[in-house]
Amino acid sequence: MAVSQGKKPAAKSAGKAKKRARRLPRSKYSPDEVREIFRRFSVQRPEPKGELSHVNPYTLVVAVALSAQATDVGVNRATRDLFKVADTPEKMLALGEERVGEYIRTIGLWRNKAKNVIALSRKLVDEFGGEVPHTREKLMTLPGVGRKTANVVLQMAFGIPAIAVDTHIFRIANRIGLAPGKTPDEVEANLMRVIPDEYLLHAHHWLILHGRYTCKARKPDCVACVIADLCRYKDKTNAEPAPLIELPPQVIA
Ligand code: SF4
Repeated sequence: MAVSQGKKPAAKSAGKAKKRARRLPRSKYSPDEVREIFRRFSVQRPEPKGELSHVNPYTLVVAVALSAQATDVGVNRATRDLFKVADTPEKMLALGEERVGEYIRTIGLWRNKAKNVIALSRKLVDEFGGEVPHTREKLMTLPGVGRKTANVVLQMAFGIPAIAVDTHIFRIANRIGLAPGKTPDEVEANLMRVIPDEYLLHAHHWLILHGRYTCKARKPDCVACVIADLCRYKDKTNAEPAPLIELPPQVIA
């Protein structure tokens, strides 16, 4: 029997991944600089947390699915009472779409979101024994769950390093040239490539919190920024890093 002289499958896929990585736009920072950026973020916020309230992996899936085009504070306000009566897919199905809609009426696109919450709960019960699956592929089969939601769930519920590129992360990655990319998928791949492994698990929250409270959309607060000296944004307004101290614990509203 003829033996193939071609590359082994693993070597082939590693080669493909490298080619893909080579096509991504280059970071403006050296590996040491990226490590230093995340070291500082880790001193500021040793235990960064997401700001969406949830009580288990299932309620996290629901909260993230509800958070599209809505603020975390707005979602938390609506889910506070909802999760008291429905913290499992079975209880959510028993509640029904109409009642779910009543709880989440203050959130944008609530009709469609109520539909998705019921549909994803049904799928969890029918196909996953009521448990939230642990892989991105399976998570993305749930109605209303895209790659971003799946990544949040992997990272927050199961401690699997993943980066969900939201508006803050997309902005920072491109603004300061940390991991440029034209699309969220490209930024995600670039961040996964440049961030050192030891910082990957929390990188998602460090970047979101940095974008939400310091490197803000309209007016970045460069005076309060701990990476101001390293930052390569041409319009930064300060080049002295803010004192590197641990910030007070996050308050989840
Ligand atoms: S220096 Fe300014 S632009 Fe640069 S990361 Fe900090 S806040 Fe953002």
